[in-house]
Amino acid sequence: MLAIDGRLGEGGGQILRSALALSAITGTPVRLEHIRAGRPKPGLQRQHLASVRAAARVCGAEITGDELGSRELTFIPHGLCPGEHHIDIGSAGSASLVLQTVIPPLLRAGAPSRVVVDGGTHNPLAPPFEFLRDTFCPVLARIGATVTVSLERHGFYPAGGGRLVAEIQPLVEPWPLELMERGRPTSRRAVATIAHLPAHVASREAQTLKHALKWSHRECDEVEIHACDGPGNIVTVTMAYQHITETVSAVGAMRVPAEEVALRAAKEAQRYLDSDVPVGEHLADQLLLPLAIARGGRFRTGAPSLHATTNAQVISAFLGERIAMSERADGDWLIEVMPNGGTEQTPTG
Ligand code: AMP
Repeated sequence: MLAIDGRLGEGGGQILRSALALSAITGTPVRLEHIRAGRPKPGLQRQHLASVRAAARVCGAEITGDELGSRELTFIPHGLCPGEHHIDIGSAGSASLVLQTVIPPLLRAGAPSRVVVDGGTHNPLAPPFEFLRDTFCPVLARIGATVTVSLERHGFYPAGGGRLVAEIQPLVEPWPLELMERGRPTSRRAVATIAHLPAHVASREAQTLKHALKWSHRECDEVEIHACDGPGNIVTVTMAYQHITETVSAVGAMRVPAEEVALRAAKEAQRYLDSDVPVGEHLADQLLLPLAIARGGRFRTGAPSLHATTNAQVISAFLGERIAMSERADGDWLIEVMPNGGTEQTPTG
């Protein structure tokens, strides 16, 4: 049984999620120790428990230690089980992160899957739905993976009550990723979304975005969501190019002025606009696993985050050294992922 130490680098939930996905794909039993040791509330929280149960569902795993607060878990996968899966996080925990745990194994399964996740759809420190739809899934499509996500109901943190649905086709003939340039810009849009909050919150955010980014009124929208538990607020900035779309976001919180929320998103957007790398910080760490289980590839990005270097370590523990990160003369970074040598387990259908 492979042991993975949750104190590695970043020390967060991604170590757990990547280990579960890789265990399911390779058929390697795993023991996770010191789970989320680097976080203020260590151990399995509801969202992590949901990832554990979701991963167990998609590979028929036997698990021990799957309790709230648990810092140790064993996970013994059997065969990949594509099909219909419904996971209820039972809190506002991020549905996107649960989906990202099961997408890689289901891409390697022998039949299509449909996964419904109830929980948070717009959370701090996690990819919002728009990031999955506009940034993550389109890059998966570039390696031949067809994953379609839809938002059935908004679930803002901390109320939750949202629903995401993912349809995943098996990845039969993967291609290597080559993502070195953005290509020409095609569109851009900033959106201030509110639910069960006064309208001035969204209009102040849209105004701030307009001034900070120097974009037109038409490019900075306000959207109000009625059909959700609330309250909630998120600002998203989408920058689309020929070969990549980047989505940055900031989640509103009580006692944080609307202007500050909008400025956070605008600053992150401006950093992306000022650089010319195609792959942004979050996408960089999230692409490593899908590439490592397929035909690999290479992309240009900024200095790798601790999430990226930690994820690379977890991937190496299962698949061997296969990720190289090197700084280029211009200060950008090149990340190269070697193709998978065929360590997946056979789908059981
Ligand atoms: P962890 O902190 O270990 O639970 O991992 C969080 C994951 O969420 C990482 O893959 C981050 O890149 C990702 N993430 C955090 N914030 C965002 C964001 N605003 N947009 C997209 N992905 C995010």
